Amino acid sequence: MIIGAMNNPHKSLLEEIHLFGEMDFDYAEITIERPRAGAEWVAEHKKQVLDALASYNLGVLSHMPWYFSVAHPYERIQHAMEMEFSHAFRSAALLGAKKVTIHTETLSPSVQGRKMHVENTIAGVKRIDKLARDFGLELHVENLDAKSLSIKEFHQLFSEVDCAMTLDIGHASTAKGEGYENYYKAFAPRIKHIHLHDNFCQSDDHLPLGAGKMDIEEIVKSLKARYDGTITLEVHSADRHYLEYSRERLEILWYGKKKFLENKEYLQP
Ligand SMILES: [Zn+2]
Repeated sequence: MIIGAMNNPHKSLLEEIHLFGEMDFDYAEITIERPRAGAEWVAEHKKQVLDALASYNLGVLSHMPWYFSVAHPYERIQHAMEMEFSHAFRSAALLGAKKVTIHTETLSPSVQGRKMHVENTIAGVKRIDKLARDFGLELHVENLDAKSLSIKEFHQLFSEVDCAMTLDIGHASTAKGEGYENYYKAFAPRIKHIHLHDNFCQSDDHLPLGAGKMDIEEIVKSLKARYDGTITLEVHSADRHYLEYSRERLEILWYGKKKFLENKEYLQP
């Protein structure tokens, strides 16, 4: 298991990378997103970003702006969106990312009707998957909420598009989420990246681990039995120390307190 953190695109990307490095994260999941980490900015500051990552030996994953449309009912708008995806993919590839996560459509399904919403999502993801491959990126589609795709609809997507999945355990644990275990049972071979954060099992709060009502202990135990890859802590608390706290909690739950302390000593001989 390796643990990462995602930059807040309203803050300086370089300062975010230094923060994650100082907190001993293993990688940064960089959202290529305006206002402060847009595709053009990243391309122009490629050297500084790569130097900052290298100074802490941080790996890199990438994420697209959560509000980019994948199924807009107006083709010309969707076409423009895909040009933006393409710019952002190029910048992700410049940083050496191999995986990129997108969200599904954020417009309400009532705009075009659920059936067309799902059909356009599948058609859009198919095109975006091709774009990602052109930049050497593996596309991951993340579960979001009831407006997004249900488990049943994800089955439909994966029957037509051979892409990976980012399982967001926090999103799956909200009142309208379908449960992390159900996602795992349905899509285990496709789940190649995890987002983890806590909430009160109602709305999508992005809290530090232990601050909400999710059974984090049980989740980590069951996750460890079936998964051993990248886990990004998407903790959005204003006080960033909660990010560091969440990393320690995850490591303690994963390895046990004794091993966690031994690992720490190993890092500081
Ligand atoms: Zn997420």
